[in-house]
Amino acid sequence: MVITLGLRAVETIAPATSANLGAGFDVFGVALDTLSDRVIVERRKDDIIKIEVYGEGSSEIPLEPEKNTAGLVALEMLKRAGEKSGLSIKIYKGIKPGSGLGSSAASAAATAVAMNDLLGLNLTPTQLIEVAAIGEIASAGSPHADNVSAAIMGGFILIVSRDPLEVIKMNLPRNAEFAIVLPEIKVDTRIARLVLPKQVDLTNMVHNIGRAATFIAGIALNSVEIMGKGMIDAVIEPARAHLIPGLNHVKEAALKAGAAGVAISGAGPSIIALVDSSRRDVREVALAMKDAFMEIGIRSRPLCARPGEGARIIRREL
Ligand code: ADP
Repeated sequence: MVITLGLRAVETIAPATSANLGAGFDVFGVALDTLSDRVIVERRKDDIIKIEVYGEGSSEIPLEPEKNTAGLVALEMLKRAGEKSGLSIKIYKGIKPGSGLGSSAASAAATAVAMNDLLGLNLTPTQLIEVAAIGEIASAGSPHADNVSAAIMGGFILIVSRDPLEVIKMNLPRNAEFAIVLPEIKVDTRIARLVLPKQVDLTNMVHNIGRAATFIAGIALNSVEIMGKGMIDAVIEPARAHLIPGLNHVKEAALKAGAAGVAISGAGPSIIALVDSSRRDVREVALAMKDAFMEIGIRSRPLCARPGEGARIIRREL
């Protein structure tokens, strides 16, 4: 497809991301090199903000700027720049919305990076994450930083603190790869938040602290096996399990095929398995999860991914 750029336009790309990775609820996130959203932001002569969405699941994505993660980001950036410019925002979705793979976050991150360039704001990565997290209000009802942090910075991130925002990026072992399965079932991100417990049992809290620490220890020790041990969540996953039929069956299949650990990706329904690619075939794990879903009559899409790059500019026109 040939896309004609206007007077001043910026085109960006941002990756799919997986949040939580088991016990790291709202804290861990990883960018994936397999799927992405592409965004073109162009100045308009009038003062209208016009959003067009194409690609995966585009028909279900709202076009009003206040209800679209990209639109909210653009409005926030204009506010920060003190500008009233009209904008045309074209979103090319490579990531299905509501997949648990950070679809709305990718649009938000790509738009934040594009607007930063377009308006010459020179925001730091942390500031870009803050703005992109505001965009997430359009999808989750409140600002969330886990997916957008990974989508902006790339690789694996952990959120140290939300206010003030502080994010650490860590390199994963070279043999840490991911097998993912995206089933054809719907999980509403807002419902997945509503089913969460308001209070946490102390035993489960101790369990999750141990597991999240184990995941980071695995990274520090360069051991995918130890990272995998850290992916067992005693709080969030049990509360959401009923939203994904066959979850335990699919998790068992992944582990049997050699995954080091497996968890719901974000709020689901995707399931992500961590695989030591120096010892196991990542595709085999993805296919085992697909077969396990098929055994209970659910079709799904298997994917393989490595930690990916963050949001970046791919074209600009002055
Ligand atoms: P997930 O993280 O599970 O992939 P999302 O964060 O994509 O889920 O949330 C999907 C919700 O966000 C849908 O209700 C969708 O309509 C809404 N949404 C708003 N703006 C966008 C956007 N630009 N891209 C994708 N989804 C969006």
